[in-house]
Amino acid sequence: MGWGLSGQDRAVAALERALREGRVAHGYLFAGPERVGKHTLAMKLAQALNCEGTAPPCGECDPCRRIAAGIHADVQTVTVEEGEEGSQKGIHVSQVREVERACALKPFEGRCRFVIFDPAEEMNSAAQNAFLKTLEEPPPQVVFALVTADESRLLPTIRSRCRRLELRLPAVAEVESALLERAVEAEQARLLARLSRGRIGWALEAAADASLLERRQELLSQARSLASMSVAQRLELAERLAGDFKRKPDALLAALEAWREWWRDVLLVRAAAEDGVANVDRLAELREDAALYDREGVAEFVRAAGEAGRNLGENAQPRLVLETLLLGAPRPLAPARR
Ligand SMILES: [Zn+2]
Repeated sequence: MGWGLSGQDRAVAALERALREGRVAHGYLFAGPERVGKHTLAMKLAQALNCEGTAPPCGECDPCRRIAAGIHADVQTVTVEEGEEGSQKGIHVSQVREVERACALKPFEGRCRFVIFDPAEEMNSAAQNAFLKTLEEPPPQVVFALVTADESRLLPTIRSRCRRLELRLPAVAEVESALLERAVEAEQARLLARLSRGRIGWALEAAADASLLERRQELLSQARSLASMSVAQRLELAERLAGDFKRKPDALLAALEAWREWWRDVLLVRAAAEDGVANVDRLAELREDAALYDREGVAEFVRAAGEAGRNLGENAQPRLVLETLLLGAPRPLAPARR
């Protein structure tokens, strides 16, 4: 079982070393973009600290299982509570006080009480100040884990009292460092790595050939414009693209991929997961679209575009495939205000 978190070797190694040497900190800061496994890693640490197996976190013993199931009495996650309409959002000082009271007691069933704040940056300033006091005089047998995608919103004094573990999007980070090794300028390397979604070959090519990026931008603009096309325009585009398909099949497949990418990014923005967005250089437009289209319609188009790509690869009628796909392209939620 073990830690089971691929691509986060550094953070895992740091935790293993601390456990081995008996130098586990009172506070940990799990920093990094959304959905890289910060909360998962924090839970693994909670398991490792309470594990009764031979290779913590074993994932098999009773404490490990109870923690994974969220029913271990000493492991808790403090998060933003659903408030009444209009009430201030965030993690409130009353929640921190409750944690303090619990932490004054010995662990109920395990060796170590483990409290995760996620998203920690949602602690309002009163909550942060109260929590800082707790961190300054940490109760014994308690470990705090602050999970955050925006550590700049945490008090520097809180951050400095925690051991920081950074989790990264592994593929992107690897692509980025490969580009840097080839003397691509830092900002460009960062953008290309994000756009590549881990496809290192594409990133290297794009770094060497600017027209690739231009072509890509055109396709993304096309992806956007699909939604405002009339039925007649959609059918006309299907006919034109189908006509080109015989000569340049790769061009059409690249277009389908770009359309998917655009609308998948729209879904990510809608889901408040902007850290996962590939087209970081067009975030403003993505936000516009996220407000304009409903999730189901967009998700269906992303799925259909993937299927269309596969069907074309299997010699389906290009015109039929494209007509079906384009007629299902997302439509704005409300009547367009333009
Ligand atoms: Zn275990």
